[in-house]
Amino acid sequence: MTSIASTPNGNSAHAFSGTQNGHSSKNLQSKPLTWTTYSNVINGELTSTKQTRCSVNPATEAENPTVPVSTREDVDRAMAAAQKAFKTWAAVPYAERQKAVLAFASALEREKEPFSKLLTQEQGKPIQFARVELDTSVAWMRATAAIDLPVEKIEHADKTILVRFTPLGVAVGLVPWNFPILLAAGKIASAVVTGNPIIVKPSPFTPAGGLKLVELAQQFFPPGVIQVLSGDDSLGIWLTSHPTPAKISFTGSTATGKKVMESASKTLKRVTLELGGKDPTIVCDDVDVDEVAAKVAQLAFLNSGQICLAIKRIYVHEKIFDEFRAALVKHTAALKVGEGNEDGVFLGPLQNAMQYERVKGFFSEIETQGQNVAVGGKNPGGKGYFITPTIIDRPPEDSRLVVEEPFGPIVPLLSFSSDAEAIAKANNTAYGLGASVWSGSKERANGIAQQIEAGTVWVNTHFAMDPRAPFGGHKQSGMGTEQGLSGLKSYCNSQTLYLDK
Ligand code: NAD
Repeated sequence: MTSIASTPNGNSAHAFSGTQNGHSSKNLQSKPLTWTTYSNVINGELTSTKQTRCSVNPATEAENPTVPVSTREDVDRAMAAAQKAFKTWAAVPYAERQKAVLAFASALEREKEPFSKLLTQEQGKPIQFARVELDTSVAWMRATAAIDLPVEKIEHADKTILVRFTPLGVAVGLVPWNFPILLAAGKIASAVVTGNPIIVKPSPFTPAGGLKLVELAQQFFPPGVIQVLSGDDSLGIWLTSHPTPAKISFTGSTATGKKVMESASKTLKRVTLELGGKDPTIVCDDVDVDEVAAKVAQLAFLNSGQICLAIKRIYVHEKIFDEFRAALVKHTAALKVGEGNEDGVFLGPLQNAMQYERVKGFFSEIETQGQNVAVGGKNPGGKGYFITPTIIDRPPEDSRLVVEEPFGPIVPLLSFSSDAEAIAKANNTAYGLGASVWSGSKERANGIAQQIEAGTVWVNTHFAMDPRAPFGGHKQSGMGTEQGLSGLKSYCNSQTLYLDK
């Protein structure tokens, strides 16, 4: 990854300067944000709406900051501003756009602490992991800005063929509530570095962080290049069905992803869909049991299991099953549940009441289906959407818990007797997002990894992301990729020019 030049006072060198293309120059140094009001950003202006609403702090059920509820007129105004900005932003040299993203990343780094606090309040995740989300957002933006988009060249006697990648037009970024800053930052960086304006729509459950992120961006980008609208359930449909956008980048559930694709098909908008997962992890019989069990417990229950790439099915070789189960129970029981600012908390609450009720539905099946609880199983009740991390021992392979994505801290522990059986069981799913294999033998683990049907497969780790590599799902886990060079190309048209020599 490249690093960014800093001025002596620690501020990054400015991004977008001059008046080229009619845009006025932007400040070299970012101004600190204020954290009292949360607004839409349309055409570079902070704008309010007649109707407002609040999300809920999932640990306390207290109201979060007041945010706008956008109207169709707000959508039209944002689309018009984005369309206008497209003409000029697309003509800004790639290197200048890279600098703008780098400067924005450094400003976000300076605002890390208030963003992290808001994230814990609004999303519920423990403050230590909120800080990691901010660090990762900055790192992803920097890594994305460091990727070049080379023009490919083929020579003939009389012609030069150039294959170049030109921006698509207005992009819409639809963001879920589990990583509201990271996923917004990733979409913004990829869209704008390739020359596309973007309108971000945060989840109604976590709107405030996304609004502030785009407010901060205004210091580095011309009006209309990065905009944000918060709203209710109608807003996503208005954005995806609007005739202006050329691209929809959606991260969320598989069910909503299908609706987004249907809506986008009306005007053949390009779509990238990052959807749900049911990640298997395969634990071979030659591992250090205690060490791997500790890691698997954390990777299943990080973010309270609300990660598309969390471990959601644990397959353990039957030779070590009992020993592994005991170690997994020990490490899971040690994970502290609580409000995100309490010391040592690993699992915050589930993010919202709807998700809490959905996950509790899986708990209510424990008794009705006679499931065998290895650890957990009973929830605290009272204020806040807290769920105890729970492992169910060998539920049937066709049970809801093995087939569906609860998106919460309840995970099935399953067994296998041969590598071929493990591979077949791991692949027996409609999803194909991530997977992992743990073995003391690199050859064995690498061999299994290459037979798994998933967009990302890890050996002796899980959920380790490098933003220079593409990320996407197989089967019903998605369509297309984000991040890396192919992620950038997903915001571009491929154009082949047969030019005379
Ligand atoms: P969701 O599908 O409910 O919502 C995602 C976003 O889409 C939100 O901004 C929502 O307001 C918006 N939306 C809802 N209905 C819409 C519609 N009809 N048209 C347009 N937009 C609409 O998802 P969620 O509950 O916020 O997130 C959880 C899901 O996201 C899980 O399934 C998880 O696996 C998945 N996820 C996937 C990835 C990935 O990269 N593959 C990353 C994070 C989360």
